[in-house]
Amino acid sequence: MQTYDVVVVGKGNAALCAALAARDQGASVVMLEAASEDESGGNSRFAGGVMRFAYETVEDLTRVTDITDEEIATSDFGTNTTEEFFDDLFRLTSYRTDPDLSETLVTSSLDVMAWLRSKGARFLLNFGRQSGLVDGKRKFFGRMPIEVNGGGAGLVQYLDAAAKKAGIHLVFDRACAIDLATKGTGKSVIEAVRTSINPRVIDCPTPNQYKVTLDGVAKDGIVIKIKALVTVRSNLDRFVGGATEETIIARVGEGIVSTIGSSASYMDVLENPNRISKTVLDRGLDSNTAFEVLSLDIAMVEVGENVGAKLQTEQAEANKLIAQAHAEVRRTTAVAMEQEMIARVAEMRARLVEAEAQVPLGMAAAFRSGHLGLLS
Ligand SMILES: Cc1cc2nc3c(=O)[nH]c(=O)nc-3n(C[C@H](O)[C@H](O)[C@H](O)COP(=O)(O)OP(=O)(O)OC[C@H]3O[C@@H](n4cnc5c(N)ncnc54)[C@H](O)[C@@H]3O)c2cc1C
Repeated sequence: MQTYDVVVVGKGNAALCAALAARDQGASVVMLEAASEDESGGNSRFAGGVMRFAYETVEDLTRVTDITDEEIATSDFGTNTTEEFFDDLFRLTSYRTDPDLSETLVTSSLDVMAWLRSKGARFLLNFGRQSGLVDGKRKFFGRMPIEVNGGGAGLVQYLDAAAKKAGIHLVFDRACAIDLATKGTGKSVIEAVRTSINPRVIDCPTPNQYKVTLDGVAKDGIVIKIKALVTVRSNLDRFVGGATEETIIARVGEGIVSTIGSSASYMDVLENPNRISKTVLDRGLDSNTAFEVLSLDIAMVEVGENVGAKLQTEQAEANKLIAQAHAEVRRTTAVAMEQEMIARVAEMRARLVEAEAQVPLGMAAAFRSGHLGLLS
């Protein structure tokens, strides 16, 4: 991926000047413009192109544009001294202008006009809008005797050409696409670009009241609790359509938990937490996301409960309860059988009594029928 020292967002007058100034300092520069190339240039393209800057003498004006001797002889250019410029600013803003910016604007304005000229901007005396003939002499009023050739559109064209000549990269579609894609999402081109320059650190897991650590169980049954920090940078090539940071957080979580789970002992994790980050990073956390993962650091490792022992204790308790249940079944069966035996004994006794009762009756019948007699 190409990298730049300076990224300028937008491509109006301010942005083009910032980009050119950065390039003057030797920085590599890219400009990201939300509008298409044809429609770029912002308000600057629609400006009239009349430029207000501080000047006192004709020599000051000739730093910005060529003025013939005849024009000098026949014109009254007036002045816009730094004092007059300050007075105008303070009067128009009721003294609510930023003092430092005002100072820079007023005291550097002439130098900046000369610098713009050096970049190829062409300026003209503002005969059409800011002057009139007074007593045979051309008098400039409004303290704005100079305009840019072609108005704001002309200025943007001049600066565009200067930017191209200076090797400044102008990117339209991507910024435009990012801008459109991020509308209503709380993200923006500026955020994407900032994160592509200044990497961002993401907490894993995202801290919330339910989950503050990523918990995995090593093969010896001990829980390991981890907090990790992932450093990411926006990948502008994949910003549109790429998965969000939630995907990275989920992948980190899954990777850490499964890496702990494949460790023979919790001691392996404690002894070398970096093994976890390396294993997780090797899985390609950032594939198809809008980010490039720069590093994964284990910020905290803690030993949690012994889940293995707890499970064994619980299993033993469960086995004990099962055995007790079986014993209870056997006991109640025995009690039931005992009751049944008692009932059967009682029944037998009743039958015996009944049978015994039949004996005298049978003997009586035998006497009556002569089958039985008494021997003297
Ligand atoms: C009709 C008119 C006449 C004027 N006449 C004069 C005049 O004669 N003299 C004078 O001094 N001033 C004049 N002005 C004011 C002058 O045009 C502005 O002060 C000046 O153009 C501001 O320049 P800028 O670079 O800050 O903003 P702009 O020129 O508006 O540039 C902003 C740029 O940023 C881009 N952009 C915005 N959002 C994003 C994003 N999220 N991602 C990427 N890019 C983005 C825009 O597409 C645009 O290219 C006039 C203004 C108007 C409208």
